[in-house]
Amino acid sequence: MMPQHFLQSSAARSLSLLQVARMTEEEAEATFRKVRWPSTDGKPVCPKCGSLTCYDCRRPNGASRFRCKDCSADFSITSGTLFASHKKPLRVYLAAIAIFCNEVKGKNALAMSRDLGTSHKAAWVLCHKLREAMASEVRAYRVGGEGKVASVDGGYFGGYVKPANFREHRVDRRRAINKTGKRQVVVVVREHNGHAVPAVFRSEMDSLGFVKSKVERGTILNADEANGWNDLQARYEMRRINHQEAYSFNGACTNDAESFFSRMRRAEIGHHHHVAGAHLARYAQEAAWREDHRRAANGKQVEAVTGLALKLRPSVDFTGYWQRHIQPASKIT
Ligand SMILES: [Zn+2]
Repeated sequence: MMPQHFLQSSAARSLSLLQVARMTEEEAEATFRKVRWPSTDGKPVCPKCGSLTCYDCRRPNGASRFRCKDCSADFSITSGTLFASHKKPLRVYLAAIAIFCNEVKGKNALAMSRDLGTSHKAAWVLCHKLREAMASEVRAYRVGGEGKVASVDGGYFGGYVKPANFREHRVDRRRAINKTGKRQVVVVVREHNGHAVPAVFRSEMDSLGFVKSKVERGTILNADEANGWNDLQARYEMRRINHQEAYSFNGACTNDAESFFSRMRRAEIGHHHHVAGAHLARYAQEAAWREDHRRAANGKQVEAVTGLALKLRPSVDFTGYWQRHIQPASKIT
């Protein structure tokens, strides 16, 4: 029998979109409540004083609402979270998370807006909030340690220059790309069989502080022969590899980083006009999260993303529901 890919096995399919679509709003609320308040199995806990005595004070329009008996605080299932002041039924958010997790190569906002029947802008903001939730987990990782093996590698994104239609207008696109000033490098550190942590810089050289802060001392670090990494030799035992000749040589191998970048490239094809600039870091963190959770059943992935979203405070990328201004790239970490 052919070895079956995990994503094709029935264990990987624990939550289908049909199941979410069949849910009532009460069932979707119960799902969110169990993820938000796991210690009480979904019974509301006052976010202000921690009291367990809260009354159900559902709004006349049907929106879920609770009031704390002890401090009179009014709150909802999503108060103070990434989905605070949500405008749509929770069922829609659960469906969005399921769709986002199911699309293993990343979901673009236009397809999401069609699946959910929302505006493109609403779907775009929602997709970014889900990336923000994934990022909150990825940012906290550190990799390596005594005797462990990790890789560092960089991949350039953005600054795309359209090819000219007429031969006489053609320029050397590689040189032109470098002149757009929009070209950025995603640097990823990845432990062998472990977490990947990416960040965005102007050059690989600019990323050395990040690499040192994320890779524990004692790690055996694989890197290509780019001069930018030389400075890391003072801190780590390094194995260098020449990409032109081989991807694996004397145990030095950056395949772990390569598989992260192939995921990023696939995402870039799906959303090429957005995978650049200020949001590149978020796409990279999304790719890292997906890489990390690729063997988890989709139901587990949905639970994990919902949990992250409900643990996060209202969006740091967006103030309010509508995007008023995008944080500059330097502020997105
Ligand atoms: Zn209270």
